[in-house]
Amino acid sequence: MGAPPVAQLRHINKIYGAGDTEVRAVNDLSLTVEAGDYLAVMGASGSGKSTAMNILGCLDRPSSGSYLLQGQPVEGLGDDDLAVLRNRCLGFVFQQFHLLAHLSALENVELPMIYANVPAEERRRRATEALHRVGLGQRLHNRPNQLSGGQQQRVAIARAIINRPALLLADEPTGALDSETTRDVLEIFDQLNGDGMTVVLVTHEHDVAERAGKVLLFRDGRIAN
Ligand code: ADP
Ligand code: MG
Repeated sequence: MGAPPVAQLRHINKIYGAGDTEVRAVNDLSLTVEAGDYLAVMGASGSGKSTAMNILGCLDRPSSGSYLLQGQPVEGLGDDDLAVLRNRCLGFVFQQFHLLAHLSALENVELPMIYANVPAEERRRRATEALHRVGLGQRLHNRPNQLSGGQQQRVAIARAIINRPALLLADEPTGALDSETTRDVLEIFDQLNGDGMTVVLVTHEHDVAERAGKVLLFRDGRIAN
C-alpha cells in the first residue's frame, strides 16, 4: 500500500456565531491533498479560504467533519498534541509575515527547531542553509525592521520549511507585496514544490494558477470547480 494522502478533509463544516448571526464559513468541504501537490486556492473575499487553510494548518478546529493528516485523525488531539503536530508536520506562511521583531532572521528561522529540540549547532547550520535557499544568505543577522517586505516574507518561508513539513500552507503570502516582489516570492514556492514540497497557496494572482497543478475555486465555503 502506498503512503496515505498528506491531508484529507471530509465533510468539514465551520460555523461561527449562532442564530441570526450564524455564519457557515466552510460548508461541507471535502478535499484531498496528495504528496507533491501544488494547489492554488482562489475565490472572492469571504468565500472561506482562510478558514479552510486554518483548519488544514490545525490553527483552528472544524465544527464537524473529519481531518486526516498523513492518515492520522487530528480531531481527537488536545491543544498540546496539535502544537507538536504543527511544529513537525505543517508550515504556515501568512500575509503579514508574523516574524518576531527582536530576533534576527537567523533566530526567527531557528525558533521552530528550538521547539523541536534540535541541537544548537544543527539549528544554526540548517537555518543558515534555509535562508540561503530563499536568497537571504546576506541578511542572516538583520532584524525584521531592517528588511524589506519581500525579504521578511522570505524569512517567514524559511521558518515555515525548516522542520521539513509534510504540508506547506500559505494564505495570500504576497498580499502585502508589490508586483515585482510578488513574482520573486511566488518563484520560491515554485522551487519548493519542484523540490518535492507539497504546497497549498491562497492567491489572487492569476499566473499562479498556471504554475500550480490545480486551482481550487472557493465559493460560499466550498470548492466550486
Ligand atoms: P476568505 O479568506 O475567503 O476571505 P474567510 O475564511 O476569512 O474568507 O471568511 C469566511 C466567512 O467566515 C466570512 O463570512 C467571514 O466573515 C466569516 N468569519 C471568518 N472568521 C470569523 C470569525 N472568527 N468569527 C466570525 N465570522 C468569521
Ligand atoms: Mg482570507
